[in-house]
Amino acid sequence: MKFVPQKYAIEDIPLKPYIDNKEIEDLLKIIPEPGEVSKIITKALSKERLSLRETAILINSEDSRLIDEIKEGARKLKKEVYGNRIVLFAPLYVGNLCRNNCSYCGFRASNKEEIRHTLDNEELVNNVKALENTGQKRLILVFGEHEKYSPDYIAECVRTVYKVKEKNGEIRRVNINAAPLEVEGFKKVKDSGIGTYQIFQETYHKETYGKYHLGGKKADFENRLTSLDKAQIAGIDDVGIGVLFGLYDWKFELLSLVRHVNHLEACFNVGPHTISFPRIQDASVMDNSFPYKVSDEEFVRIISILRLAVPYTGLILTAREPENIRKEVLEFGCSQIDAGTKIEIGAYAKPDSEKQNLRREQFKINDDRSLAEVMEELIDKGYLPSFCTSCYRKGRTGQHFMEFSVPGFIKKYCTPNALLTLAEYLMDYASENVKEKGWKLILKNITTVDKSLQEEVIKRLVKIKQGERDLYL
Ligand code: SAM
Ligand code: SF4
Repeated sequence: MKFVPQKYAIEDIPLKPYIDNKEIEDLLKIIPEPGEVSKIITKALSKERLSLRETAILINSEDSRLIDEIKEGARKLKKEVYGNRIVLFAPLYVGNLCRNNCSYCGFRASNKEEIRHTLDNEELVNNVKALENTGQKRLILVFGEHEKYSPDYIAECVRTVYKVKEKNGEIRRVNINAAPLEVEGFKKVKDSGIGTYQIFQETYHKETYGKYHLGGKKADFENRLTSLDKAQIAGIDDVGIGVLFGLYDWKFELLSLVRHVNHLEACFNVGPHTISFPRIQDASVMDNSFPYKVSDEEFVRIISILRLAVPYTGLILTAREPENIRKEVLEFGCSQIDAGTKIEIGAYAKPDSEKQNLRREQFKINDDRSLAEVMEELIDKGYLPSFCTSCYRKGRTGQHFMEFSVPGFIKKYCTPNALLTLAEYLMDYASENVKEKGWKLILKNITTVDKSLQEEVIKRLVKIKQGERDLYL
């Protein structure tokens, strides 16, 4: 897929900032013409990427009927293009040393109440074992920004994680959420075999950025803005972008996120692998007020518009959100969620009774259900939980939009791999009750696999029942 660059006030050049406030603000003034929103939704449903202007029109739609139309469009697109799969992962916080002062974050340097800790090798291994024992296969390692967390250090952590094998458990994909690196640093981390490197811009509004980032390297807005360009130059073609909603006007942030997508497409011919949209949560001793908090209704609008505007990208919804919101927004386009999440440093390897003493979480999470509970709920609702890591291990990276653009890709790869990884989970980690419901779901979904592969998938499912593992397409 070749992306056609759009014309903007600032030309897209790698490593050059690309946000022009006036351009974004002017687009946010456009009033939708009658019938325009429907046309834009039809375009998105025909799998065409929306322009920034078209995205702005969706954002500017305030009429409740138009908002419903947008939500319905997103629901339809998600169903038609992606089906019912939900990919699962868990975050693993490795260390909370930090030189920066992001005033919304419990890890910020000025927070003297924070207990600082970095997992040593044994703790890291024990946490990974604990995660494997629940059935996790995909992790995101999270770090503060500190000289200790050098590229070599991060790469070593990744290698350690991949080596940990507990019974049938193993981690097959390690993603990273850490500070921006230089090109050489990104190369080192890439060589350790990471999946996605995630860096959130937090806010694309420079003045607001300055207000909340009061020291350390992260205070440099432009450096953050182009940091994933360096990852791309280093050969990391799976990158994740995001906004911390609540710092500035959500409409400005949402349009800027899409502008960032367009920048990556224009410069590297590949958009982001994932987009994240955390809403600000309470952290220990907040230093600032947050006048732009996003309501639940606005949150659903944000996700629906993103789904329509960038239909090939994974949308990540985290346990920052409460159970009821997570259930609701899955329908509108989220394709990845964390489950069984614990963000206190080292908490996976500790009993829950000791959790209180850790007091080292970055912010509060609102959905602390176990992976088993989330799996059961997904299965009950007819979603197909997936631990698939196939594309990245088969070298189908930077091509994630294949799911979306290559006819039959989902039936050939995604659904079979979801079924195979679910079967593994059921055999190794599920209760008898969930096992029964899960196998029924697998049988029901086999018919949605490409006809030419159904027999092969059934053979592999039998092999998994007999004890074989990691059979992917
Ligand atoms: N230190 C690295 C950085 O700042 O990019 C990476 C890790 S940081 C721990 C991960 C993300 O957590 C941040 O990018 C930010 O968006 C989010 N975060 C920080 N404080 C938060 C809060 N109070 N509520 C919700 N999300 C928060
Ligand atoms: Fe440090 Fe990241 Fe928290 Fe900022 S968001 S204080 S950089 S851990």
